Amino acid sequence: MDSSRLQPRVIPRQDHGISRKQISPNALRVLYRLHEAGFAAYLVGGAVRDLLVGGAPKDFDVATDATPDQVRSLFRNCRLIGRRFRLAHVVYGPEIIEVATFRAGEDDGSGAREIENGVLVRDNVYGTIEDDAVRRDFTANALYYAISDFSVRDFVGGYEDVQARSLRLIGDPITRYREDPVRMLRAARLSAKLGFAMDTATAEPIAALASLLEGASSARLFDESLKLFMAGHAVRSFEVLEDQGLLTVLLPDLARALCSDPSGQCRDMVRQALAMTDARVAEEKPVTPAFLFAALLWPAYAAELHRLLMSGADLAVAEQRAADRVTLRQTDRLAIPKRFTVPMHEIWWLQSRFPLRQRKRVMRLLHHPRFRAAYDFLELRAHAVPQLMEELAWWREAQSIEADALAERLQPKTGRGSDSEGDSGAPSGRRRKPRRRSAPRNP
Ligand code: ATP
Ligand code: MG
Repeated sequence: MDSSRLQPRVIPRQDHGISRKQISPNALRVLYRLHEAGFAAYLVGGAVRDLLVGGAPKDFDVATDATPDQVRSLFRNCRLIGRRFRLAHVVYGPEIIEVATFRAGEDDGSGAREIENGVLVRDNVYGTIEDDAVRRDFTANALYYAISDFSVRDFVGGYEDVQARSLRLIGDPITRYREDPVRMLRAARLSAKLGFAMDTATAEPIAALASLLEGASSARLFDESLKLFMAGHAVRSFEVLEDQGLLTVLLPDLARALCSDPSGQCRDMVRQALAMTDARVAEEKPVTPAFLFAALLWPAYAAELHRLLMSGADLAVAEQRAADRVTLRQTDRLAIPKRFTVPMHEIWWLQSRFPLRQRKRVMRLLHHPRFRAAYDFLELRAHAVPQLMEELAWWREAQSIEADALAERLQPKTGRGSDSEGDSGAPSGRRRKPRRRSAPRNP
């Protein structure tokens, strides 16, 4: 898009409703310092968009005509980062204000901008504010709040789109998705997060281009998946991903399992996991990717485990192998770090221990460091499979009883000493048949 002739629409202070009180004091500090030094200084991107729709921005980004080195010379607490995007970070304790120099969308031939096979790999050509606006992804993300007069500057029709709750890519959607396929996931995420409808031209090419995401960096896709599922709008994200044909590339095993799920149990369980995650985020309780991915990949794990057991594998071996296979396939697409896959496996493996009620096993499981997560996971499964309710109730009660009293109740009523083969009572004292360790039901 030729940005040289773009005239901004200027929305004056009294018309847009953004007040400085809503802006982080540190971001204001950065804006004023740049402005006083004679540079252009704007709040830009997600923060302006979120303020316009009444949301609370999670970070404040600044755009300026000062080069990164000029920015550094203005702030003691500044470090320069990035190769593809050279950026200044102004650091105030835990808060970082990102300051980016206006960048151009056109190649100026200097080599600072590199495109390989239509994909942007390096992008350090500085430009005007107009250039900077048109190289952004969505019109709603290309609004500039000027510290000089507190107006909002709009070069691409973003203000109107925000008012209309519409998500629209800047420029030709197919070209923009080819340049950076992750924009398809950003479209899904922002539409879910903001409740914006995707403009037709923005939504239409996604299904056909979704497979381009297979070439995206798995680390970047993992980061995006956290923003999709751990930011309080997981249920909506999931719906949009499915509608747009993006789930198949992001979580191929899950998408397959959902296709062959006549009872709808897998879907119920996954939706419940996402809804629980959203509720926890809303209550500002911690959420962990280990639990979330345990749920998203459980249908694949359970199916793989079933296959291995049918072919005669021993349960422990089958569990290990099923977890490894599912994880290997998924991490090829999303680089889920080991610190999450290790506890994810433990959550899975503990599921087959819940049916075992011998005293020693019960006490060992209750003291397992991953017991609580595994129990919460059992609850999730029980939501979709009502037959698990009895198991869930048993373990709920087991946790509510003092350890000594529980051990006493689980003491074999007949026989001498060892509980390894004997009867094991329910925490309520009921006598029950010994149960063999069995594979978890799906889901
Ligand atoms: P969030 O609320 O999740 O932070 P955001 O829009 O601020 O959403 P960021 O990843 O913080 O997302 O990006 C900041 C800004 O950078 C965006 O608003 C957009 O203008 C621009 N941007 C980010 N990613 C891209 C991209 N892939 N292509 C073009 N512009 C992008
Ligand atoms: Mg942001």
